[in-house]
Amino acid sequence: MSNDTYKKAGNTESYRDMLATVDEKGKRKWVFAQKPKGKFYNIRTWVSWGFFALFFTLPFIKVNGRPLFLFNIPEARFIIFGKVFWPQDFFILGLTMITFIVFIVLFTAAFGRLFCGWVCPQTIFMEMLFRKVEYLIEGDASRQKLLQSQPWNARKIRIKLTKQVAFYFLSFIIANFFLSYIIGMDQLIKIITQPVSEHVGGFITMIIFSGVFYAVYAYFREQACTVICPYGRLQSVLLDRNSMIVAYDYKRGEPRGKYKKTQIAAITTGDCIDCFQCVKVCPTAIDIRNGTQMECVGCTACIDACDKMMDAVGRPQGLIRYASENGIANGQKLIYTGRMKFYTVVLLLLTGLLSLLLSTRKDVDGTIIRAGGMLYQERGTDSISNLYNIKIINKTIHDIPVTLKLEGSPGSIIEADGKDIQVKKEAQGKGSFFIVLPRNFIKERKTKLRIGLYQEDKKITELKTNFLGPFTTSH
Ligand code: SF4
Ligand code: SF4
Repeated sequence: MSNDTYKKAGNTESYRDMLATVDEKGKRKWVFAQKPKGKFYNIRTWVSWGFFALFFTLPFIKVNGRPLFLFNIPEARFIIFGKVFWPQDFFILGLTMITFIVFIVLFTAAFGRLFCGWVCPQTIFMEMLFRKVEYLIEGDASRQKLLQSQPWNARKIRIKLTKQVAFYFLSFIIANFFLSYIIGMDQLIKIITQPVSEHVGGFITMIIFSGVFYAVYAYFREQACTVICPYGRLQSVLLDRNSMIVAYDYKRGEPRGKYKKTQIAAITTGDCIDCFQCVKVCPTAIDIRNGTQMECVGCTACIDACDKMMDAVGRPQGLIRYASENGIANGQKLIYTGRMKFYTVVLLLLTGLLSLLLSTRKDVDGTIIRAGGMLYQERGTDSISNLYNIKIINKTIHDIPVTLKLEGSPGSIIEADGKDIQVKKEAQGKGSFFIVLPRNFIKERKTKLRIGLYQEDKKITELKTNFLGPFTTSH
């Protein structure tokens, strides 16, 4: 992304040569972010309560005995809004992923990092839970810095230990709930309540997840957004000059200068009073006055901090605000660009296709394959048979006995073991059967057949297959 904003303000780009959180020797500079106060922080706090309510209650919600959501990656089993998706539904899942990516691209082109600042779990847990607990135990940024600079003594050990124990406890709770989205709440409760020896794998996973969350929130923190997160690193290609970002109005703010009450000072300097409050509250320690930066997670803390300063010096709020680069440079409003319109059309098409696939998706599906290594069998003088294997996937929550019937063709189906195929709920069933056709019905080497799958008299679905006969293609 261009940085005209910054250059037009008469600055150089030397700040791009280094990371705000790394010193000249390459050592991590710990960020002591000051607690933000203001309109946006209050709204974000409410949003975070909504997020926590969802995150901690969804695993308990069931639909027809199934979890509302389950992302069981090891078993390739997904439940979305109570509907089970199997590897056989990979097409729908793939399309869902593509739709999601298009949505992200479109959303980012229009609204920048709104997602990062407002609903990304990393930001919410970090800023709205762990950071708040830290403020509670260690105090605001200045107290944290002071404590850090003090030699180790009983008080420091007590405070630091309390914080780490609280952080680990929170990480453990989050890890448990996170795991419940993968294995389901019922299984998680079993791991918690039954002897460890019966769930060694689950118990180890729980400990590993807790350790990872603890490491992220206690130590790694903003580095997850600035170094690891691929979405953050993609911002430079996703954003353009019309995207909405948290932006500093350099036209209004520059030349910056310390606040003086005199008339002359007000004429010779811009509105920025160089108080550094926007930098002090920034969780990634950047100076937004340098222009758009990859490290900005759009948390709005600097907007609140600057608005507070503007109020204090009697100047209008919004020196840092949601705006586009063009908006700041040319006084333009946020516009709906051609690129955004194109993404919207693609998104609507994909969503339509996805809805169609979801609404026509079968609860019982299967595949029929002719048994390998066999051609056909003669049955007396007037019939020919083929042997088939069938696999049936039952996505419902009921066991289903499946009867097979030939559709639109004479002949019969004989199950190899003489019984209906039993398919357990949310499982796969398989079986073998013969299709027997009258010899005089077979006109080609390959005859196309339709097989109906019935539960008692109710047709569940229909599958297609080929029947191999003794004839070569007739002309
Ligand atoms: S620059 Fe502002 S919006 Fe961006 S991360 Fe820092 S405080 Fe948040
Ligand atoms: S908080 Fe506002 S006034 Fe203070 S340095 Fe930042 S931009 Fe300037």
